[in-house]
Amino acid sequence: MKGSYSIFFTLIGATAALEYQQPISGNILQETAETAETAHKQYPNVNLDQIIEDSPLLSFHRDIIKIPSITEHEKSVGEYIIDFLCSQNLTVEKQIVTPGSETESERFNIYAYAGENRYPDILLTSHIDTVPPFIPYTLQTPTPYTQFINREDVIIGGRGSVDAKASVAAIVFAVLETLQESPDASLGLLFDVGEEYSGIGMKTFSNSDLNLSPPTYKTIIFGEPTGLSLVAGHKGILGFKVVARGKAAHSGYPWLGQSAISAILPVLQYLESLQYISPEKGGLLRSEKFGASTLNIGVIRGGQASNVVPDYAEATVAVRLADGTPDDTREIIRKAVDRITSATGSVSINFEDLNAGSPPQHLDADVEGFDVITVNYGTDVPSLKIHDQGTQRVKRYLYGPGSIHVAHGDNEAITVGELERAVDGYKKLIAAAV
Ligand SMILES: [Zn+2]
Repeated sequence: MKGSYSIFFTLIGATAALEYQQPISGNILQETAETAETAHKQYPNVNLDQIIEDSPLLSFHRDIIKIPSITEHEKSVGEYIIDFLCSQNLTVEKQIVTPGSETESERFNIYAYAGENRYPDILLTSHIDTVPPFIPYTLQTPTPYTQFINREDVIIGGRGSVDAKASVAAIVFAVLETLQESPDASLGLLFDVGEEYSGIGMKTFSNSDLNLSPPTYKTIIFGEPTGLSLVAGHKGILGFKVVARGKAAHSGYPWLGQSAISAILPVLQYLESLQYISPEKGGLLRSEKFGASTLNIGVIRGGQASNVVPDYAEATVAVRLADGTPDDTREIIRKAVDRITSATGSVSINFEDLNAGSPPQHLDADVEGFDVITVNYGTDVPSLKIHDQGTQRVKRYLYGPGSIHVAHGDNEAITVGELERAVDGYKKLIAAAV
């Protein structure tokens, strides 16, 4: 999952669709090392470690959280997962991923399947990289003053505890349990690197001999934190830079210069307003499914000193697309800039790679027994090009444990109960796909 989210800690179970993206309220805990310690001190009989140790799922989840795997440093956790999958008698392949930038670590995706069946019908996938910084694994009771705890309510914290090591762990155990019950089930696993940064892992898989035309798989299940809801689709994304060039001068004689900051400000303000303007009047696109496209000015830079008229300014912008293609929105942005600058060229837009960006993704949500939601974050979904034109359409599901609201936060955490329920959720999706 890409994006940035609230640093507050909250517990959200299988929340109703409408509430999912509302601001957090109620049941908020400030998680600190202190409270975790207090819980242990006051109630030494509550052995949280033992609860984890007694469960292969929870122990595996713990072990992969304890191994840091910030994007570009996924090697150690990858090797741990490979060893585990091999010990479960799966056939495992390393798919080498050429580093996107200079890095010392070897990078690889993990591809696994039962027996000789290299091209299974159902592929389950998630990512093994996390956002920075590394946050150690913690266990905590729901409140420090609870004497009697329900093991389901035990809170597991740490980087990746939700995004996406909860999905990785639940997927592994859903597959193992399914294979135990039906040894002939046609299942494959793909755990990729680099999802949080560039999607390079999934792009590598997409361009490999494991992604044939026509496709060999019939269903793909993507694991990301969806709060145990099935995701019917997520918004697309388009990024670009706004650049203004002026002429430097002494600030006492500003008429001798041309301020790049004065030029860029009204353009940024206008671009930001496009999310509130109807598409008919030149605003950003909307759809019934995803609502309005939104626009965020994330970075702004410019100028050198308060006594110098600035000759340069730039801003980095991301649009979350509710409808249309990235090209459609590029056109809307270009026209808007021409309109507000009277096409003087004083401010330009740099889209960099014209192939970058992705349109909104529409996913399958036809399995009964799940809440269905849409989400605003990006995933690996658009990076996997499925060659199913003119043949049977491949179904794609997006599902997983944990709340997106804590996914990249300081207090990333999940309950034992939600993690365990996700195994059943994945099994249900597998059963529906068979
Ligand atoms: Zn993720």
